[in-house]
Formats: sequence, C-alpha cells, structure tokens
Amino acid sequence: MKTCRFLHQGLARYGRVEERDGALWIAGPAPIPAEDLAAQLAELRGDAAAAFDPMALSTAELLPPVVPGKIVCVGRNYRDHVKELGNEVPAEPLIFFKPISSLLAPGAIVRMPRVSERIDFEGELVVVIGRRASRLKSDADWRSYVRAYTIANDVTARDLQKKDGQWTRAKGFDTFCPVGPILSDEVDAESGLTVETRVNGELRQHGSTADFIFSIPQLLAYITAAITLEPGDLLLTGTPAGVAPLAPGDHVEVSVTGLGTLANSFASETD
Ligand code: MG
Repeated sequence: MKTCRFLHQGLARYGRVEERDGALWIAGPAPIPAEDLAAQLAELRGDAAAAFDPMALSTAELLPPVVPGKIVCVGRNYRDHVKELGNEVPAEPLIFFKPISSLLAPGAIVRMPRVSERIDFEGELVVVIGRRASRLKSDADWRSYVRAYTIANDVTARDLQKKDGQWTRAKGFDTFCPVGPILSDEVDAESGLTVETRVNGELRQHGSTADFIFSIPQLLAYITAAITLEPGDLLLTGTPAGVAPLAPGDHVEVSVTGLGTLANSFASETD
C-alpha cells in the first residue's frame, strides 16, 4: 500500500495513495499508525471523522508521511560518495541522528542558516520501521520490521560538519530533514532502487541502492545492537556521489524508484 499524511480541515489525516492516469491520487483514508497518538486521539474524539473527496496528491497540503520518534542516519554508505569527500571506506557503519525538529514537509521551504557558507543536498532512501526492533541478529527476518520506504533530503551544512568535529549542528538545523511525499511497501530496496537528485531540473545525483556499502539488514543489525528502533522511526540510508552546495532560490527534487519525488525549495534565513 502507498500512503500519505496531509492536512484536512486543520487536522493531520492519513490517506491511501493510488495511481490514476499516471498521477498519484489520495483515494481514501488509510489506517492511523499506533505511534501517532495525536491522530489516534483526534479519531477517538470524532474530530477526524469528516470524509474527504479523492484529490490529486499534488493538490494536497502534505505533511511528513510519518511521525517518527527518532531519525537515525548512516553516513558514507556509497563508495563513490566516500571518494568524492576524500574519506576512507568505513569498516563499519557510521551512524548519527537528525533531531525531530529538523523534519520538514514535502514542498516546504528549507531555511539556509546564515552561519553556514555551504549547504548541500543529499538525496536518500529512507527505511520506515514498522515494529520494535532490538538486537536484531544478522539472520533475522528483517523485512518484518520494515513498514515501508520513503525519501529524504539529508540537508547538510558541510562547512560546519568539518568545523564542529561532530555533526549535530551541521545535520540538525530546523528544516534540514524534508521527508516524503509518500510511504510505500511495494518496492524492494534490496533489488536496487534508483536514487536521483535534480537541482533546478538538472540531474546531480544518480545512484542505486544496490551499491550500498552496508545493506539494510546489516544496518539494522548494527544499529539495533545499540539502539532500540520503534514503529515510525526513520533510517536514512546514505547518499550517492554528486553532493554540491546550494544557493537561495534553488529547487531540489529527490526521486526514488516507486516512491515518487520529494521537492523542496531553499531560501535564505530572513531574520
Ligand atoms: Mg546523508
């Protein structure tokens, strides 16, 4: 199933997404995931009972398609990207967090902080966790822990990433984690999904998840040996080669096979 999350009469609603005549449509309601307590409560109160007419996904006021408790990311997971930044191929996964406050809806504006002189895009496939995962063994049925897949742009203040010595600020500014537009469990990430990023329509990244240094089951085993993953949590799986600085006014589109396109524009901080 493909799903999205959008604003309808001031409330966050979940919609079932279907393809009609080559375009994506919100065809009807989708189940509310257990981790979204606010939406669960709204439904219990009857606040979210209003029906909605089918609408083109492009006309909906989209929200991030999931409400995660944490956003776990993997750095340096494609060889060609490791090379372009002059780093060594890691012997084990390099993981970090982006804060929940960095989440941004599809179509919303990424604010470029004045304290950085180089802000890069990083188009990435995202794994969305479906059930609690702790200390997964390498032979575990990892797919049963995955709810779906989506897209993120792991926006990065590249200069601050070097300057700070760790990545919390560089990766964590407000608006630095656009996610969406939809979730889908209909793709097979292990078969090799194409990850592409365009800036103002020009192709800048073209990779395949078949080229991961660490596979999704390897990442899940490594991360859950330390950190329990909960339903709704996101795993950003790293970016292919081609990262580059952006300028105010740039329009960035990240596309992944079967998951549509995540589009966001970038603008200078105004105050
Ligand atoms: Mg990244």
